[in-house]
Amino acid sequence: MGARAGALCRWTAAATGLGVRFPVSWAWLEAFRGCLAEPCPGWYNADMLLGSYDTEITTMACDSHAQCLAVFAHLHQDVSEALPYLNAVLPGAVYDHAAQVLTWKSGSREISLRPRLLAISDVADRDDAARQAAEFASLINDTWERRADITPNYRKRLRAPALTMYRMLPGGNCKACGEETCWIFATKLSAGVADLDACTALLADTYAGRRIALRDLLAGAH
Ligand code: SF4
Repeated sequence: MGARAGALCRWTAAATGLGVRFPVSWAWLEAFRGCLAEPCPGWYNADMLLGSYDTEITTMACDSHAQCLAVFAHLHQDVSEALPYLNAVLPGAVYDHAAQVLTWKSGSREISLRPRLLAISDVADRDDAARQAAEFASLINDTWERRADITPNYRKRLRAPALTMYRMLPGGNCKACGEETCWIFATKLSAGVADLDACTALLADTYAGRRIALRDLLAGAH
């Protein structure tokens, strides 16, 4: 995709008022979808892997609020071939090649991608939904355009369990890692968006064994 084409597509998506974002499980999305079902047209470019989609805004329960909005983009093209390439470039992504499901976190949002469906949690409103849908559609196309430079990853990745890692951290909520609590740090480790080295408390000799075990856990999961 050329720069002009990409800019045009992003502008078109913004103008039509559709978008995406979110952090919750796929099962939750499936359970709560449809509350505000309202199909909307997406962008279109026949030269790209993903050329167009319809968006649907839905309500859902989420971790941080009583209720929040999510967006489903129903893709008009099958993007399954891009999944292993996205799995290779997205840190902390969880991928099941057999099931054709890729999930990852982006800030507070969780994104799920299937061959014909993109779901994003925690969108603020319709405009935000439009922006997010366009952003992640661009990510799919841009990654596909760069596929010659990417080694696709078909390996199944699992998320390291946050509770297990939490129990292995020093505890005490010292905040040296930049997080308010050890639990928040553990959840970010699990999502692949935090670096174990940020927990400087783990560098003490007394925690050497736990440090190695945590590294093994993270390596095994990813
Ligand atoms: S630095 Fe380690 S011990 Fe301190 S709050 Fe963060 S995770 Fe907990």
